[in-house]
Amino acid sequence: MAVTRTFSIIKPDATRRNLTGAVTKMLEEAGLRVVASKRMRMTRDQAEGFYAVHRERPFFNDLCNFMTSGPVVVQVLEGENAVARNREIMGATNPAQADEGTIRKTYAESIEANSVHGSDSDENAKIEINFFFKPEEIVG
Ligand code: ADP
Ligand code: MG
Repeated sequence: MAVTRTFSIIKPDATRRNLTGAVTKMLEEAGLRVVASKRMRMTRDQAEGFYAVHRERPFFNDLCNFMTSGPVVVQVLEGENAVARNREIMGATNPAQADEGTIRKTYAESIEANSVHGSDSDENAKIEINFFFKPEEIVG
């Protein structure tokens, strides 16, 4: 297995509850390394651009409201098979369906306010990393 990168967001429901460290600890314990990290407030344009793939979904407007409702922490994670490893430790989108021990089972409030984002493919990871980070901000 190759060492790869993925893109993560600690969402506003988690930053509001002061869970940045707790979530990051779970990522690190899953074998992922934070090679870039910044706390920011997403603009409406950034949220709509980032989630453009979902723009026809009924939850799109609420999702953009939520993602701009407070600070987020955007991160680049590195590790063996990083995209799949991160999706495993995140758990299912709906916390009610997430496995025990996952971030979403442990911390998510709802299917929308589900504490973390993680890329779903290597290709999307590259796009999402480039959306929020300059190459020199990533230090592996
Ligand atoms: P994931 O984040 O697990 O990759 P999706 O890409 O399908 O899930 O959805 C993106 C985000 O949109 C989810 O993480 C969640 O915050 C929100 N979302 C997804 N499905 C719903 C839904 N049915 N109702 C409200 N919000 C949703
Ligand atoms: Mg997704």
